Amino acid sequence: MHSTFFYTTCLLFASIIILVTLERIFPYRKGLPFFREGFWVDLIWYTLIQSYFLKIFIFDVIIHPADKALHLSSLQLVSNWPVWSQVLFFLVTHDLYIYWFHRWQHRSKILWRTHEAHHSNKGVDWLAGTRSHSLEILINQPIEFPPIVLLGANPIVIPIKALLDAVQAGARKLGVVLMRDPWDAEFLAPGVAAVTAYGWRRCQLDAAMARLLT
Ligand SMILES: [Zn+2]
Repeated sequence: MHSTFFYTTCLLFASIIILVTLERIFPYRKGLPFFREGFWVDLIWYTLIQSYFLKIFIFDVIIHPADKALHLSSLQLVSNWPVWSQVLFFLVTHDLYIYWFHRWQHRSKILWRTHEAHHSNKGVDWLAGTRSHSLEILINQPIEFPPIVLLGANPIVIPIKALLDAVQAGARKLGVVLMRDPWDAEFLAPGVAAVTAYGWRRCQLDAAMARLLT
């Protein structure tokens, strides 16, 4: 388990270096500084502090007490599956949920209030996707992670899924020149982000939103 955390952390930093390098070499939004307006808010507040405390709350207050009460993980419903198929299963099912919920957030005035912070960055780059209202995370992550624990998945699925989420979030907001129109975004995004078909549509939506904001 410790080695999984080590490797996923290394892969996360390697992915960030690749994403930042692509954005610097092929900038779509020319002149956007690396330390853009809101950079430190996104990095310190949203990425480090908010994620740290919400992770404690979601796992220690919601998921583990729920598992203690329900004992669902002891049923080990997916435990015998290969790890890669567990990761794929939770990636696709969660992305299906998030795709439809994301669309609903853009159509509902009430749900939009939980999501508007995510689109509030004036300069959209690899880090911009980390900006999410805590209420939005408190809706989505207690839906994303409990099935992994309660269905008895291998514990390493959580850091692997979290890594894929982070890389996908960074790649979807990436401002590289190849993503300047929808066809390019469709061509590039799945290759960079390893997204599912549903995530692919989210790429189009985010690319369109990025164009509106810049
Ligand atoms: Zn959105």
